[in-house]
Amino acid sequence: MPQTYNIAIDGPAGAGKSTIAKQLATKLGFIYVDTGAMYRAMALYCLRKGIDKENQAAIEEACKEITISLQYEDGAQQVLLNGENVSGLIRTEEVSAMTSAISVYAAVRQKLLELQRELARTKDVIMDGRDIGTCVLPNAQTKIYLTASTHVRALRRYQELIEKGEMCNLEEIEQDIEERDYRDMHREIAPLKQAEDAVLIDSSQMTISQVIDAMTEAAKNHGLRENR
Ligand code: C5P
Repeated sequence: MPQTYNIAIDGPAGAGKSTIAKQLATKLGFIYVDTGAMYRAMALYCLRKGIDKENQAAIEEACKEITISLQYEDGAQQVLLNGENVSGLIRTEEVSAMTSAISVYAAVRQKLLELQRELARTKDVIMDGRDIGTCVLPNAQTKIYLTASTHVRALRRYQELIEKGEMCNLEEIEQDIEERDYRDMHREIAPLKQAEDAVLIDSSQMTISQVIDAMTEAAKNHGLRENR
């Protein structure tokens, strides 16, 4: 099998990773792998079981009962939890908070690591998450660390929710983002940090298309040929 080309995108919550990665994948003809959705599906399982986020033993036990898989519908990733498509159920604030709480545990991370590596070994992927460049795909040809100021990230999330007609409070969103970033950056296993060889992109003052152009440029500088 010819070697695959992998693009790893890491960064804090709300930096625009999934929006950008999805569009870039379409542009390049790559598969987009949203690893956050896999962690979210595991968190949903724990919430449904009524497991407390501090109960490590119960979470480890739950890991044994869970199978996560992905499928693609019209190019869009769907995440399956024990065969059930849960993609529409994992974007709530409750699931977000539970996800960052359970993703500190080794058993949870180990469960998803092999699946993520296998996808990248067999396909050209753009994979986004928190530990892709540092841990999951240390040999990815292009690594990006995508960030933006906390205020800008909160504002984007706020606008998204308002457009959906949901009630929300900007200050609360900003606080949730700060808490989630703190937990993701300070956990013992695979914390969020910029890989040494990652290209840093701060999207605070950039449009989506400017970010996509910057990433395409970075990939070309790291040996990506178009029309693979
Ligand atoms: O990217 P998203 O916001 O969907 O991720 C939800 C949570 O999943 C993150 O806050 C983080 O705790 C966890 N996560 C992780 N490692 C990844 C992807 C997500 O720990 N590779």
